[in-house]
Amino acid sequence: MSYIRKEDVIKRCEFIKKLGEDVVLEWQGHTEDYKEQHDVSDAFARMREMRDMILFIESLPVAEIAVSPKGQWVWDEEREYECHCSNCKSVVSEKASRKMRFCPYCGADMRMKGRIK
Ligand SMILES: [Zn+2]
Repeated sequence: MSYIRKEDVIKRCEFIKKLGEDVVLEWQGHTEDYKEQHDVSDAFARMREMRDMILFIESLPVAEIAVSPKGQWVWDEEREYECHCSNCKSVVSEKASRKMRFCPYCGADMRMKGRIK
């Protein structure tokens, strides 16, 4: 999964909205004849769409992101079919540990390295 920063998306929307506003502002400064000949409905639409988009993005919940600790499954010499989490020391069966990418007890990420003997 990847994450994006709300501020970055909003900044981009603000930029696009500004492009529309600039066109509309310039258009408003012209004569009525000019205005009738030049259609700026696309620029108005861009302003409205970006304004709505910014409101939508601002309403999205902010994820609380916690980084999992790193861990490894460690073989226990005395217990032949068990191993433990290097982070919290919880014991799991050796067979189960092969399928677990995260420690079920502390959430440590076990994907980076192999098991320790
Ligand atoms: Zn653990």
